[in-house]
Amino acid sequence: MSIARIGISSSVQGEERLSTSLDNISAVTQAEGLPFVLPNVGVSQACAYAEQLDGLYVTGGGDIDPNLFDEDPHPKLGEITPERDRFEIAIIRAFLQRNKPILAVCRGVQILNIAAGGDMYQDIYAQSEEEKQMLQHMQRAPRNHRSHAILLTPSSKLAELTGVTDGYVNSFHHQAVRELAPGFEATAWASDGTIEAIESMDHAFVVGVQWHPENLLQAKDGMAKRLFLSFVQACRKPNVG
Ligand code: MN
Repeated sequence: MSIARIGISSSVQGEERLSTSLDNISAVTQAEGLPFVLPNVGVSQACAYAEQLDGLYVTGGGDIDPNLFDEDPHPKLGEITPERDRFEIAIIRAFLQRNKPILAVCRGVQILNIAAGGDMYQDIYAQSEEEKQMLQHMQRAPRNHRSHAILLTPSSKLAELTGVTDGYVNSFHHQAVRELAPGFEATAWASDGTIEAIESMDHAFVVGVQWHPENLLQAKDGMAKRLFLSFVQACRKPNVG
């Protein structure tokens, strides 16, 4: 069986560079995938990548342009990178069309949901109901610290893959999935009701998580390890549909 070729989406660094963390690269190589860091290029290249690659890893990063779901920017919206949004939406749709595996983390789960027709909170603290007691989702602890609890849907693919129905995760976000895309289900929640994972009901492997499992691998986090292993394994299987 040939090695799975995994596209890794990249952050925009100022106006001159792209970047991705080394944890993203080693998450793929540790699971025995072959990493390809993708520049934020055009829609036609996004389709060409979807033909060439076996799996797509949509990484974390900054905020997402609310124009993508027909909203004006909220005052709490942070820095956005429209060319990254555009490219990721195109490549996510190209992978969905081909029923090829997608794993999305943090910002990735939000752009996945938007690409498939859902939306998000621009700022969970400013936009959730007033009486709701929110927990701290932008942790001030190190990246490999699991700061808050999550509960998984026991019947979900995520629970099946990871072998658990609860756990602790790290958290570096102030945005989150709001309205789910058609064909998607929420499969993990924080105690304040924030959606922490989603998956497609219509695809073989399309999973998004709101935390950063790539930063938990060195801490020997079993859930993170099984997530990347099962993703790369899914990319190795022949694709149907
Ligand atoms: Mn969180």
